[in-house]
Amino acid sequence: MVKANGYGHGMEWVAQTVASEVDGFGVARLAEAEFLRQCLPGARIVLMGSILTPAQYQWCAEHGIETVVHDEAVARRLATLKASKPLNVWLKRNVGMNRLGMAADEFRRAHHALAASQSIGKLIHMSHFSDADDPDPAETRQQIARLQTASAELGTYPLSMANSAGIIAHPDSHGAWLRPGIMLYGDDPTQTLSGDNALRAVMTLKSRIIAIRTVAAGEGIGYNRRYRATQTRRIATVGAGYGDGYPRHAPDGTPLLINGQRVPLAGRVSMDLLTVDISELDRVDLGDEVTLWGDGLPAAEVGQHCGTISYELFTRLTARVSRYYL
Ligand SMILES: *Cc1c(COP(=O)(O)O)cnc(C)c1O
Repeated sequence: MVKANGYGHGMEWVAQTVASEVDGFGVARLAEAEFLRQCLPGARIVLMGSILTPAQYQWCAEHGIETVVHDEAVARRLATLKASKPLNVWLKRNVGMNRLGMAADEFRRAHHALAASQSIGKLIHMSHFSDADDPDPAETRQQIARLQTASAELGTYPLSMANSAGIIAHPDSHGAWLRPGIMLYGDDPTQTLSGDNALRAVMTLKSRIIAIRTVAAGEGIGYNRRYRATQTRRIATVGAGYGDGYPRHAPDGTPLLINGQRVPLAGRVSMDLLTVDISELDRVDLGDEVTLWGDGLPAAEVGQHCGTISYELFTRLTARVSRYYL
């Protein structure tokens, strides 16, 4: 899954980097499919949930973009699509999320309409889990069974169910196609992988200390002086803020990494700057590197402090952040 600009990592770089390891790419928007097709002329590309115009479906067929169909009426329309090449369709069953996908009877009718059509090439049966990261496997087991049952009564078709959490926690959901997203970027949504199986962060977001000062007891730091020093503190100002994608609502105490040691955020994050309490650090200097998340400080942990997840931190990185691809 390389949607949302490769989860903020740069779609083209991610796609080129893993191209020889994967069988295809998943995107969420037609514009993403168009861009990726230019980067990788021969790759298998699947466009996840969308409703397109007939001309856009035709474009997909002709450019080898496979599309997810999650609605019976759309399936019926596609069965009469006029295109010079057949369109491969991933037919989506709703198994519990109630966001996209068809109920059992709709799924069956949509399948028959598409299977009988000359316009349609390969058919893949898919679903998407709502609860695969839940330590209790009961709901996901039912969701696996819902797709398996719906598919089996129509014949033998390739299945695709598993997102990262499904891949890690539910081997019986694997089927023909896996759809790893966040795990590709080094976050384990189940927080169960360890040792040799532990994932490594792909993105490390770094800045530098650009000012250091001593703040006396009673003084405040940053806008509205949200953080108030109760004793003398050493405060470092870092050249990163919400204008770079660091969450403005990060509370005091959110960890950052300086010289391998965790230090707490102190004061409100502003657009270009944030402030950390470095009173406990032994050695620290102007220009020292600060890790906001990544190597040594999982984005998931930063996300936990900020009431969000690594997915959102990654995808909200802004354009002004310089990217260095190693
Ligand atoms: C984004 C997406 C995935 C990947 O999910 P992760 O939790 O990031 O692994 C899988 N399937 C679909 C349909 C998606 O939209």
